Amino acid sequence: MRIPFIAGNWKMNLNHNEAIKFIDDLSYKFENKNKINIAVCPPFTSLRSVILTLEDEMNKNSNMIIKVGAQNMYFEDKGAFTGEVSPEMLKALGVEYVIIGHSERREIFGETDELINKKLKSAFKHNLKPILCVGESLKIREEGKAKEFTLSQLDKDLDGISEAEINNLTIAYEPIWAIGTGRTATPQDANEMCNAIREKISILYSENCAKNLIIQYGGSVKPSNIKELMSMPDIDGALVGGASINVDDFLAIINY
Ligand code: PEP
Repeated sequence: MRIPFIAGNWKMNLNHNEAIKFIDDLSYKFENKNKINIAVCPPFTSLRSVILTLEDEMNKNSNMIIKVGAQNMYFEDKGAFTGEVSPEMLKALGVEYVIIGHSERREIFGETDELINKKLKSAFKHNLKPILCVGESLKIREEGKAKEFTLSQLDKDLDGISEAEINNLTIAYEPIWAIGTGRTATPQDANEMCNAIREKISILYSENCAKNLIIQYGGSVKPSNIKELMSMPDIDGALVGGASINVDDFLAIINY
């Protein structure tokens, strides 16, 4: 049985004061309607404030379980890598998840599949649970190569990663043309790609591994489309950007 997993990617939004207020508001309004896993992924500067505020709130309300993820990390443990944050540092803070290979990192910061592969290996080594983002651009989709492209990202990103490690992996299928654009893939198209990703994992690893893998859809997820997306057999959750920094929208999404 796959437990649905909804994660909020705050991107470069909410400083630590705003983040504390967000968690306070979220906790005040939180109702445990769905049995799902929930995570928020704030910027590095808000991680500690979010973790401490959540600890406080979860002590008051045992129904509320919200995990914390980072949006990125470097693959080295420490050293002369100015501006980078290591997996050890995240672990020491109490971070559980880390988004790896988000399309904004790939496109704006030039992250390659080779780098993403190193980051994944390092995340697993430090017992962080990666959320690996894959997905095609509009041009690739229009050329009819969406599946081929996305599955080839998996070949490269997962090179040398073991089946035991894959059990702690979440994959987010995020078509780039749907991220932050208000344009969502149809539930059927999103499901078709998530299904292709699951099949690929069964070929690369095993059927059992594929059966247990959590695959999220990401790309303009909002309260009005989450229910239909979640009704699809191969979509196990969502990676939510814009709508995750509005408390009411995020709550509506997790209460789909
Ligand atoms: C994302 O940042 O991963 C994302 C899917 O963004 P949005 O929901 O804003 O499209």
